Amino acid sequence: MAVKTPTKQAAAKSTPKNGVSKNGAAKKQSKQWVFLFNDEKGVDKIAKSWSAVRELLGGKGAGLFDMTRKGVPVPPGFTLSTEVCDAFVAAGNAIPKEAWDQALAAMTVVEKQTNKKFGGNTPGQRPLLVSVRSGARESMPGMMETVLNVGLNDVTVEEMVAITKNPRFAYDSYRRLLMMFGATVLGIDDEKFDEPMNHLKAKKGLKSDTELTTDDLKSLVQTFKDVIKHETGHDFPQDVYEQLRECAMAVFRSATGHKAKTYAKQMGWKSTLPTAVNVCTMVFGNMGDDSATGVAFTRDPSTGEKKMMGEYLVNAQGEDVVAGIRTPKPIAEMAHEMPKAYKQFMSVTGMLEKKYQNMQDVEFTIEQGTLYMLQTRNGKRTAKSAIKIALDMAKEKLITKEEAIKRVTPADVDFLLHPQFDENQIKSAKDEGRVLASGVNASPGAASGMLAFDADLAQQWGSEGKAVILLRPETKPDDVHGMVASKGILTARGGATSHAAVVARQFGIPAVCGADLLQINMTDRTVTAGGHTLHQGDWVSIDGAKGVSYIGQIPMVNPSFEEQAELVTLLKWADEISAQNTRKDEAGKPRRGLQVWANADYPKDAERARSYGAKGIGLCRTEHMFFETERLPIVQRMILAKDEGTRHQALDELLPFQRADFAGLFKAMSGLPVIIRLIDPPLHEFLPSQEELIKEVTRYETKRHYDSLGEEEYRDYQKKLELLSAVSAMHEQNPMMGLRGIRLGIMIPGLITMQVRAIFEAACDVKKAGSEPMPEVMIPLTGHVNELKKVQPELERVAKDVMAEKGVKVKYKFGTMIEVPRAALTAGEIAEVAQFFSVGSNDLSQLTFGYSRDDAERGFLLKYVEDGILPANPFQKLDQTGVGRLMGLAIREGRKTRPDLEFGICGEHGGDPDSIDFCYRNGNDYVSCSPFRVPIARLAAAHAALTHGVKTK
Ligand code: PEP
Ligand code: MG
Repeated sequence: MAVKTPTKQAAAKSTPKNGVSKNGAAKKQSKQWVFLFNDEKGVDKIAKSWSAVRELLGGKGAGLFDMTRKGVPVPPGFTLSTEVCDAFVAAGNAIPKEAWDQALAAMTVVEKQTNKKFGGNTPGQRPLLVSVRSGARESMPGMMETVLNVGLNDVTVEEMVAITKNPRFAYDSYRRLLMMFGATVLGIDDEKFDEPMNHLKAKKGLKSDTELTTDDLKSLVQTFKDVIKHETGHDFPQDVYEQLRECAMAVFRSATGHKAKTYAKQMGWKSTLPTAVNVCTMVFGNMGDDSATGVAFTRDPSTGEKKMMGEYLVNAQGEDVVAGIRTPKPIAEMAHEMPKAYKQFMSVTGMLEKKYQNMQDVEFTIEQGTLYMLQTRNGKRTAKSAIKIALDMAKEKLITKEEAIKRVTPADVDFLLHPQFDENQIKSAKDEGRVLASGVNASPGAASGMLAFDADLAQQWGSEGKAVILLRPETKPDDVHGMVASKGILTARGGATSHAAVVARQFGIPAVCGADLLQINMTDRTVTAGGHTLHQGDWVSIDGAKGVSYIGQIPMVNPSFEEQAELVTLLKWADEISAQNTRKDEAGKPRRGLQVWANADYPKDAERARSYGAKGIGLCRTEHMFFETERLPIVQRMILAKDEGTRHQALDELLPFQRADFAGLFKAMSGLPVIIRLIDPPLHEFLPSQEELIKEVTRYETKRHYDSLGEEEYRDYQKKLELLSAVSAMHEQNPMMGLRGIRLGIMIPGLITMQVRAIFEAACDVKKAGSEPMPEVMIPLTGHVNELKKVQPELERVAKDVMAEKGVKVKYKFGTMIEVPRAALTAGEIAEVAQFFSVGSNDLSQLTFGYSRDDAERGFLLKYVEDGILPANPFQKLDQTGVGRLMGLAIREGRKTRPDLEFGICGEHGGDPDSIDFCYRNGNDYVSCSPFRVPIARLAAAHAALTHGVKTK
């Protein structure tokens, strides 16, 4: 039955339909702040789309509204919208009068719907009890503010006793209200309530809360009232409307409180989100053995397996499951224990999953055999589960492949490629008896760290850069700041849907929960299990996928990408999307999406990159090979050579090394382009440091002054002296802006001609052996086209000579890096010579901002980011407005001159999803990043195509 909103009823009495009063004066139509769960008309009028409904009612409110609309059994109730929250904050924490009046009117409607009375204390009149819960637009698992049983007081509790003939239930409900109201609304520490309850249980030798008698509960009710009076100076409010108002205010306050801020920061949101307040008729899972309460996921949130995963507790209220206070039963058991309700539950949840086309996280209560749904939302899931569910749902044709790709985040992919424990090391730990305790495999991943027994310490240690494992009996929303600062979480109580598990999965933190053998002593800060006692600060390791904790630190290994079959398939789909013509080029012709190449210096890196799906090598930093022990002395000889003959001799010695390096790369990347960059860094990087040399020389001179030097020492002294004089002669104040890149090539041409010869000799040899090398020679740090004009023709001549000598032809390109702003500004001229551009965004950011990339991060840059002067570290995230603008200029001007100009990026930004999105829009052909980031970049490139791309098929 559709029930009119009280707002409309009230409005209908006071204002004619069109908002104009009888005497003709325009009257302001009142704003609707409050929505009954079945107020379809009211919601539809304001919120035109599902996302607008969520925006208005919050995720939880939207779910309750939508379930009601679909005929799912939901207890009647209403939602104070997120707009009330905004108004509450704007008014300095006050609920607008109009909104509160509407809430009161809504309560009257709910009373009619349920045939109960809020605060009902007349004999025979059934009191209406409600739950009050928060719910922002985005669900924030583990953050929920909840107060149950609002509406109980000293009188209504007796009415409940009379009606239910179940005094135990009535007083159990009352003591819960006092606890939750005390903690959530009044901010009293939970321990103040837990302690007397645990004390009573211990005194009577009880294990479970359910064993408490009516008298025990009555005495606890009194104790809890005393706690409230003692802690706040006020009595617990007996006026039920005051209870309701206080609860609503507490929820609204929580939206901008410390916990919400921590959460928002962790999620990378710009600000906290306003929350709605949901007031829902209480149904009771604690009304005896035909009642229960539970939470469930329609698919496994840990592994993604397609099977209902959840837990329930007979004769309990919701908080018991979520807080992990009692260990619940797996949902499958409900099929035997409550078959009728289970069947209905499975059908309702199946329908919800289909409707939302997503895995649902539901809460339910069975009151004396009748099922009620209290929540449905898209469930949070681990990276592994996100990928499996997306893939399975696409295969089940519930969603498209494109949607599947959109649902997986770059962070999910990143997580799956995180290091895991070395299996051999795990075996040794087991053999050595270092298993601490087992529990539920609540959130996968491996972590080692020092035990911290409370969230504040975990946060402090985390901020000092220490690896922390947070150990708690169970976690609560107040612990979130410490949880997110930890590498892993270990709890003694609670299951796979406990607070710790839900939050850990949300943030990708490995967690083992409910390891009930752990005996935690919070006073001494020790934990005992299996005959071992550990202290705060001791190292432990946790395996969140298997649910085991170990004593000490267990070494890790990188996971195998190829073995992650689901990820491999998903990324194949991502590549298919990127391969489509989703963009237009400068001439308006269709152009494919962005490719992902890799930065790799050695054949083994190139092999990894290829196996991770790279479509080319975007940067091989040749100088890295110069640092190897047998080569460095030759390089130094080459640099210090006093005559051309000595220099050439050294270069001749280096050539075979380089040729072998390049041959390996070409073989590994046969059929794909390999960009090899000619030497770039200032030469002093290959020589001993001037400071060290001065120290050595001074030491010898001091010794010589007082004593004499031995023959050996004297020789070494002379050598160091000579080296010092050479190094001093080469010293530059700003070497990063000095003799490096193409400037080096101009000053020491023999060095780069040797490199080009090595490249082409290798390419010809490899081609002869049956591979298909595709070398692209990259000249770094060009600032003026004349530099290229001087260098490139000579190098091309070397390439041709080598191919003629070898009698082999290979496809090749010569191009340059865009790293100096002037190169970007004059890209049109530079493209006359260069056949490709690759943006060296590390140097381009350095030179555009004028920040030294080596020093800025140590100095002011982090403060700049913290204070919001810069939105992000420009060496990690491309500065799209400044550096990006130069990239835009470079590609447009370059392609005006040379329409087929290949354009890529090979700085650190090539692996950052936001920067990749920019590169897609900029028209780049590829991004190049470290091999480990290739899978993430492939997904990000497909995301960019799906977000911005024009579908051509
Ligand atoms: C760059 O500057 O972005 C680049 C890739 O070169 P390097 O980091 O080697 O200077
Ligand atoms: Mg550079």
